[in-house]
Amino acid sequence: MQNIISLELISATSENGFSLDELVFRTKELFETEAMAGFVSLILQLIDERICMNIVQGKSDNTGQSCCCNERFEYHDRSLRQFRTSVGTVKISWRRLKCVKCGKTITPLRDFLGLAPYQSKTLELEKLVTEIVSEQSYRRSSTHLESIGSIPVPKSTAHRWVVQTDCDQIDTGTDTFSLLFADGTGFKRRPDKDKRISNRGELRVALGVTRSSSVVPLGAFSGKSWDEISSLVKGERKNKELVADMLVSEGETGLVKSLAKLCNDSQRSHWHLVRDLNYTMWKDDAGKLERKQKQKELNAVIGIEIPEEDFEKVCDDDKKDLQDAVNSAESDLHKLIGKLLEKGYKIAADYLNRSAKNMFSYARRWLETGIVTPRVSSMIERMMRELGRRLKRIAFGWSEEGAAKMARIIIKRFTSENQWEKYWHEKLRLLDNVMLALKTIKVQNPQTLGR
Ligand SMILES: [Zn+2]
Repeated sequence: MQNIISLELISATSENGFSLDELVFRTKELFETEAMAGFVSLILQLIDERICMNIVQGKSDNTGQSCCCNERFEYHDRSLRQFRTSVGTVKISWRRLKCVKCGKTITPLRDFLGLAPYQSKTLELEKLVTEIVSEQSYRRSSTHLESIGSIPVPKSTAHRWVVQTDCDQIDTGTDTFSLLFADGTGFKRRPDKDKRISNRGELRVALGVTRSSSVVPLGAFSGKSWDEISSLVKGERKNKELVADMLVSEGETGLVKSLAKLCNDSQRSHWHLVRDLNYTMWKDDAGKLERKQKQKELNAVIGIEIPEEDFEKVCDDDKKDLQDAVNSAESDLHKLIGKLLEKGYKIAADYLNRSAKNMFSYARRWLETGIVTPRVSSMIERMMRELGRRLKRIAFGWSEEGAAKMARIIIKRFTSENQWEKYWHEKLRLLDNVMLALKTIKVQNPQTLGR
């Protein structure tokens, strides 16, 4: 169906000069507040008239609508509907038709557009709101949405949309990853005195790392035990199918106990180790300089690199060297622990002692099997920092489920923006079924243009 639509505008400008900025500003204002939404509404109305007429005249039925009694439809009434969209509020008074025999009513345009019965916003707006909300704090995003002008979405509405959206769903697949990374991060949740829920929530994240070092989200959870998370991450995999070769974590007992069974081996996250040495030494009242110094020392001790060549190509001498490096690193680590104890930093010393066990699993595993385990990649490190930073700002006031949803959206977008865009492209059904082109922009009183 093709139409030529003309748009009539009045422009009145001062003869005494005006700023280019004001012209641009007023143009934007006009289009954002009225013209774009009005244009969409008009096209909808044209379509509505056409399809309803076709149905009433029995010509064709593009919507697949027919009544059970196989009778014709007649015009019944109109009903006013509004849709929030990113170009403003689209209003349409769409027709309802009635079966002449049984009186059943239908709304052809709704089915034509594939809208849900009580849908009141477009999915493209849902995408926009989800993205804005997952990038900044709630209060700020709500103000931001309002400042776009055409989309006044109050905070409570945006919150509800995010809770209802299914764009956060994660399919854990059945692949076996190189690494399974799991971690928890604290956030301030919405407290509930009656249910004895404090404001201290913990968000738990599981990520997979493939052999080619790309990071895949496996889930973000709130209010779930590691055992529950373990079976969710396992997903559709059969009993003996592993999720990953190596589990990498900060080594919390509950976490390791539940998730280690999904992997062959378990490895301390070096990133956590160095980070938490700072924290435990701080608890021991060590000064900032010394904490930095010891973090450096620890980094130097644990940073054993696995040869880059294929396992088979590495000669036995080099393998022996690596084995020696692991042994001496372990002894250096115990020297470091000794130094901490001497200084009276007991909490930090205990912490390293407990962690020592699985600190070099990745090197041992390579020596035994030739399987390369990437140490926690910088990607995961950046991702966890980013998540913590954003959750601190945005999660405040979220329910547990809301915060977990938000986290899933963040990790999905962070790990693969492409997948995210692809998902929405399909969901929005951008299939070249609508084509628009600007035909002319010309003035109606051409004498004002001069010769
Ligand atoms: Zn009927």
